[in-house]
Amino acid sequence: MAAPARPAGARVPDHEGRAGARRDPEDLRPAALDARGAPARRRPAAREAGYLRAGEKGPKAPAFRLEFQNGSQLVLTEAGSKKRAGVWLLTPEAADAELAHLGPEALGLGADALAAICAQESRRLHSLLRDQRVIAGIGRAWANEILHHANLSPFALSRDLVPGQVQGLAAAIDLELERGLELRERGANDARTYRVHGKLREPCYVCGTPIARVDYEEHTVYYCPDCQTGGRVLKDRRLSRLLR
Ligand SMILES: [Zn+2]
Repeated sequence: MAAPARPAGARVPDHEGRAGARRDPEDLRPAALDARGAPARRRPAAREAGYLRAGEKGPKAPAFRLEFQNGSQLVLTEAGSKKRAGVWLLTPEAADAELAHLGPEALGLGADALAAICAQESRRLHSLLRDQRVIAGIGRAWANEILHHANLSPFALSRDLVPGQVQGLAAAIDLELERGLELRERGANDARTYRVHGKLREPCYVCGTPIARVDYEEHTVYYCPDCQTGGRVLKDRRLSRLLR
């Protein structure tokens, strides 16, 4: 298993054999097992990797537990029914090969590199940001936070961005990820860390407009209609299905 750089970024390849070895960061939150005692969240994450200090109690039946010589433990749980979490023991060469498909690290990407990425193909921004082959390290939640910060619609096409918007998006990536890392390292829970993600109908932190969402099978896009989509409320597919 590749050693995680930091607790919030544990890399756990899923066993569907998808090239996406690194799961969305919010899938692997250490919150429930956080040694700093993170409060309970409203909804459990599907997969979580956490660190326990010596003597701390962990879950009764973890999917994986690795005890270190100092008594601390790395524990992996999977609450969801999909059972896609897993742990692999890899040689350094195999780990490099496993991670070779990843795009450049999101934090510190910069406007020039992002402009080149945006010009490559026309993609919806929320989907582009989450594609680990294109940019590594942004999951569903941070795509929501970053696009809100940049005043961009999650459904805007990457090739339609003007240079100023690309610069704003590159800056938003750094500012939001730095903000998130700082909060998580201090043990902040989801409710304190996120300002848009999971905040349906709560007031936008910039303009006060209720946050809206578009729901997909495996993720939900949250956005502010006033800050991001020119006042337009986008169709919520789950709601549409119910009304059909
Ligand atoms: Zn707003």
